[in-house]
Amino acid sequence: MRSGVCVDCASRLEPVIILKRPMSNALPPTQLSVVTLKRGESDRIVAGHPWVYDGTIASVRPRPADGDAVWVRDVKGRQLGTGLWNSKSKILVRVLAAEKVEINTAFFTDRIQSALTLRRRALPATNSFRVVNAEGDFLSGLIVDKYEDVLVLQTSALGMDQRKHEIVAVLQELFAPRAVVERNDISSRRLEGLPEQVGVLAGALAGPVTVTLNGLRFAVDPLGGHKTGLYLDQQVNQRLVAELIARTPGARVLDAFSFIGGFGLAAAQAGAASVYLLDQSEEALAAARQHAQANGLTDRCSFEAVNVFDWLKARTAVGTNEKLIPPFDAVILDPPSFTRNRAAVPDALRGYKEIHVRALKLVKSGGLLATFCCSHHVDPVTFQDVILSAAFDTRRLLRRVAVFTQAPDHPIIPSIPETEYLKGFAFEVVR
Ligand code: SAH
Repeated sequence: MRSGVCVDCASRLEPVIILKRPMSNALPPTQLSVVTLKRGESDRIVAGHPWVYDGTIASVRPRPADGDAVWVRDVKGRQLGTGLWNSKSKILVRVLAAEKVEINTAFFTDRIQSALTLRRRALPATNSFRVVNAEGDFLSGLIVDKYEDVLVLQTSALGMDQRKHEIVAVLQELFAPRAVVERNDISSRRLEGLPEQVGVLAGALAGPVTVTLNGLRFAVDPLGGHKTGLYLDQQVNQRLVAELIARTPGARVLDAFSFIGGFGLAAAQAGAASVYLLDQSEEALAAARQHAQANGLTDRCSFEAVNVFDWLKARTAVGTNEKLIPPFDAVILDPPSFTRNRAAVPDALRGYKEIHVRALKLVKSGGLLATFCCSHHVDPVTFQDVILSAAFDTRRLLRRVAVFTQAPDHPIIPSIPETEYLKGFAFEVVR
């Protein structure tokens, strides 16, 4: 026995040798095209980032057809992974595995099953969640959302799109869904040479699906709603913010950029006396109104289809010798991403600053500001700096009471920075 280590622990310290067994789909019989990367370009791929850009490739032999599986190697001939080729995209290869594997039914079953295990562990109480989130689940180009017994699929890469029906078969096997719907009406498909498409791929779907999130019932239209129907990435935050608001009985709440009411209705359900939901989309607000009704919360909710910037401006305008009395116990800000790319960040920060300056004027002392930023290009430190700058301008003092991130069904892989995008804070406005 090693000194200071008990027998039980010592036995646990024995080295464990795991014999590498080939996976059922390992080592394909056919030879694939080999994509060799330039010197110095392989580290990112070794670290787990799946995108291979044109400028990083030394050679491709023989030339693959678009959508074909390829092997990626470094200049010394070391295997970096198996991916799918698309000459039409800026991302020529999306690496799907670090080994030589066949991208077949067994591969998709394995990947989707481990994605599902992660969700079941992290979100055991919900039947609606993102089953696969592309790079976050090592399946670049594939998103699958689950709304109760309906699955919504999005393929944003050509190689994935070509294997759509194989993926649907795997989903049917794993979930036995009522329907699998395709929501491929995203403009980024054009970058891959793919058309926009919406439709039912398997089963049948008529009308909306009733989805329960945080104990609230929502009617989701998988064929027509924003994103693939709901903002599932805020599912956990909606509950956490509602819990914070519940600490102030009878709170007056502003839910700005409410969409179909995820935050506002959770707050109403948690005990807020009145909730104002604002969104510029009439359609989203009509849905929010229906959801308030379906959950018996209509008496506490008001809805206004407006541009939040204009609304905040009007509500915070004061004449000379007038003083604004903050009306809200809690303000929630969950705007869309103001940045498509890095170049747009300065403008976006001006936008974030403006809404925070105005929102802070509307929160009572001792009240709450819950605020989110879903732009990958704005990191949490920069986002908080903008909020602090707004607090300085309005002479408010903030105590940070919560830090938020995307729900665990949107996994963050730090070596793939693009997988991290949603951040948020809750501040108590001290004075
Ligand atoms: N909080 C929501 C998600 C908000 S998504 C949830 O948890 O489900 C962003 C919303 O902002 C969209 O519904 C969009 O219609 C709305 N929006 C975008 N720009 C806006 C603007 N200037 N004024 C009001 N609403 C806006």
